[in-house]
Amino acid sequence: MAETKYIFVTGGVSSSLGKGIIAASLAKLLQARGFKTTIQKLDPYINVDPGTLNPYEHGECYVTEDGAETDLDLGHYERFLNVNTSQANNVTTGRIYQSVIEKERRGEFLGKTVQVVPHITNEIKERIQILGQNGDYDIVITEIGGTVGDIESLPYIEAVRQLKWELGDDNALVIHLTLVPYLSAAGELKTKPTQHSVKTLMESGIKADILVCRTEHELSDDIRRKLALFCNVRQEAVIQSIDAHTIYDVPNMMLKEGLDTVTLKKLALPDDSTPNLDRWNQFLKKHKNPKAEVHIGLIGKYVELQDSYKSILESFIHAGAENEVFVNVEYIHSEFINENTIHNKISHLDGILVAPGFGERGIEGKIDAVRYARENNLPFLGICLGMQMAVIEFARNVLQLKGANSTEMDPSTKHPVIDLMEAQKKITHKGGTMRLGAWDCKLKKKSIIRDVYQTDEIKERHRHRYEYNNKYKEQLENAGMSSTGINPETGLVEVIELEDHPWFVGVQYHPEYKSTVASPHPLFVAFVKAANEHAQKNKNAKMAQK
Ligand code: GLN
Repeated sequence: MAETKYIFVTGGVSSSLGKGIIAASLAKLLQARGFKTTIQKLDPYINVDPGTLNPYEHGECYVTEDGAETDLDLGHYERFLNVNTSQANNVTTGRIYQSVIEKERRGEFLGKTVQVVPHITNEIKERIQILGQNGDYDIVITEIGGTVGDIESLPYIEAVRQLKWELGDDNALVIHLTLVPYLSAAGELKTKPTQHSVKTLMESGIKADILVCRTEHELSDDIRRKLALFCNVRQEAVIQSIDAHTIYDVPNMMLKEGLDTVTLKKLALPDDSTPNLDRWNQFLKKHKNPKAEVHIGLIGKYVELQDSYKSILESFIHAGAENEVFVNVEYIHSEFINENTIHNKISHLDGILVAPGFGERGIEGKIDAVRYARENNLPFLGICLGMQMAVIEFARNVLQLKGANSTEMDPSTKHPVIDLMEAQKKITHKGGTMRLGAWDCKLKKKSIIRDVYQTDEIKERHRHRYEYNNKYKEQLENAGMSSTGINPETGLVEVIELEDHPWFVGVQYHPEYKSTVASPHPLFVAFVKAANEHAQKNKNAKMAQK
C-alpha cells in the first residue's frame, strides 16, 4: 500500500466514554483484516509524561518496552493488538512544548516569533506522522485525549484540521465519540448533546466522518436517522456503542455495527477481506465459560481506584481464561491490614498478589500479608514493591534482622536489605529517571520461574529506583530465599522464590505490562494455576472433614 492512512478519534459530551477501547477495537478489526495498524494517544496535560503523577490522578502509569512512561490506554492498545508500542505512541502537551522550547533555544526559529500556530501545531503534526514514516504501518489511529471544546485540546484539534486538509479526504478521517443519554423520566434517548458536540467540532473546522454513540439502550432507526441528518454524516456512519459486559466484547460489537467497513470505505481501502478473530474469540469463549472460581487478594494502597492496577487486573482476565477459571479479585487496602485483621482479610483466599507502589504508606500491612502467605503456604506473587516487601519480611522474621527495611522507607535502617541502586545515587530529577523499560534476566535451572517461562533468558519491563541488596544475598539464600533470576550484566537480583513453599515468587519487574489477549503472561497463568490448585486442595480437605 502506498501511503499511510490516518484516523483521528475525538470525544465529546463527556469524558470516560471509552475512546481508548473504541480506538483499540477498530485497530483490532483492521489488524484482523491484514492491515498493519498502530494507535497513538495525545494527552493535553502539561506533565511531560504521566510518570510523575499519582495513580489517583490518572490511573496506572504504563511502561513500554523502550522505557516510556505512558498513559494506561497504551496498555489497552498492546493487549488488543499484541504489538509493542513505544515512546512515539504517547505524546503530551508538556512534551510538545518542551520540544518546541528546546528548538527555540537552539536557534531553530531564529528571528521568528514562536507561536501556538504554527509552531505548536506543526510539532503536533510531526509527532502524529512520525509513526507513519517508515512504512511500518498502513494505518495510524490517533486518539485525542480530553473532550472537544476544552481549552487545552484546541491546538490538537487545529493540528487535526490542518492534517486532514493536507492529507486529503481519502487519507484521513475523524471519528467522533459521543454520549447519547437516556432520560428515564421521559423514557427517551436524547440526541441533542451529540448535535452540540458535533457543532463544537465544526466550529473548529472539522466535520466528523463517523459518529460512535455510547448508549445504555439500543439506538432505534429513527434515532440513527436523526443523528445522521443533524450531524451531517451518512446513516451507516452512525455507530452504536452500547454498554458491554467486558471491554473484550467491543471489537465484535463494532464488527456487527460495521465500523471497520465504513472506515475502509471512507479511506478508499479495499473491503474484500473478512477479519480473522479466531484467537480473540477462543479467548472470549474461555473467559465467559469458566469451570471454576479462584479468589485472589490484590493488596495495595491505591485500591479505591481500579484504574491504578489496570494492567494487573487485565492480566488476571487473560490468565483466568487460559486456566478456564474465573479470577475473583478482592481488593485489600494494605493500610488496614494488621495482626488483628489479617486472618479475616486473607484466610479465605486462594492466593495473594502484593502490588507495586511507592513510599511508606501501607507497607507494614503488605509485610504482614507476605508473612501470612509464607507461613500458610498460600500462593504469593510480589511485583516490584511487592517483591521488595517479601525480602524485607524474610529478613525480619526468618533472618531475625530487626528493623530490616528498604532505604526508601527508612533511610537510616540498620539492615538495608533493599537499597537505592548505584546508578540512581547521583540522580536528583524525578521525571523519567527510574530504571525503566525492558532489561535482560537470566533464570536459574530447577526453579519455579524457569518452569514458568520454559526458557533460560527473558526480557521484562521495569520501573523502580530501589533494588535487592546483594550484600545480604548469601544470608537470604542460606535461609531458603533463593534468587532465581539475575540481570546478566549488573548482577541485580530480579526474581526471588522460597524453597519450602508450594508457590512463592517475587519479581522486581512488571509482568503485567506484557500480558495480552493473544499471549497471556506465563507468570500470571502459573500463579492462577497455583491458586486454583490451592482452592481444590482446600475443597478436598473440607470434604474429607465432613
Ligand atoms: N518504590 C519502589 C522502587 O522504586 C518500587 C517501585 C514499584 O513498585 N514500581 O524501587
